[in-house]
Amino acid sequence: MLKKIFVLLLVFGVILSGIEVYKSRAQSVDDVAQVMESPKILVLNYHQVQNKNTSLSVSLEEFDTQMKYLKDSGCVTITPDELYAGLNGDIDLPAKPVLITFDDGYLDNYTNAFPILKKYGMHATIFVIPAFTGVYPNYMTWDQLKEMEQNGITIESHTLTHPKLEELPDDEIRTELLNSKNMLEENLGHPIEFLAYPTGTYNLHIAGIAQDLGYKGAFTIKYGIVDSGSNLFALERVPIFHSPVTMKEFFERIAWRQSFDEFGWLKK
Ligand SMILES: [Zn+2]
Repeated sequence: MLKKIFVLLLVFGVILSGIEVYKSRAQSVDDVAQVMESPKILVLNYHQVQNKNTSLSVSLEEFDTQMKYLKDSGCVTITPDELYAGLNGDIDLPAKPVLITFDDGYLDNYTNAFPILKKYGMHATIFVIPAFTGVYPNYMTWDQLKEMEQNGITIESHTLTHPKLEELPDDEIRTELLNSKNMLEENLGHPIEFLAYPTGTYNLHIAGIAQDLGYKGAFTIKYGIVDSGSNLFALERVPIFHSPVTMKEFFERIAWRQSFDEFGWLKK
């Protein structure tokens, strides 16, 4: 009798532990599914759109072709706020989210890129240098920035004077990050919560200061795709400059991305 009870207990124990193993496997399968479903956001990084063939530029024709391609491929341009909310799981992002960014705030963003973005109904984000805004002829004016903001363009901070932050003492880093934020907020009348590090250089210390001062995220020039594993203060981007950027090169720069096939972008 005792032997039978012992065997029954043993069988029961095996069944229970089997259920536990099954549960833990199911858990890990769920986790994998969740990772697979987490948003992947392509963030493009432009500087200038003009036909002078400089290291920071793409030509008008190249830019037009690239925007048309993204549009025809069903990509939906999003804002930094949407990227943030999407990564936090607060909103469902579109199936093919793309964040188009420009650094520095060059005048050609207004004269050349803006009309093309409007033509295709696309959003973009420009990280500007407020101490240069309306001061140097090659940079946009406050009126131009305001007009763009009424037409689908988001303006954010690229620091006050575009220094290499890593070379500055803390008080100057704080001034660069905070004064640019304040100046942009005063002139544009809305919160400035995203930053692009000048020259892309950053470290955890600088990221900490940015977070302290009320920024919600910061973009680097670290080559990669933004997903749930990204650090909000070290967001990856794909560089699209150094003319000529042919469509072949454009594809190659975005080709490494994991969900490449799903976007229908083929390496040629
Ligand atoms: Zn810059």
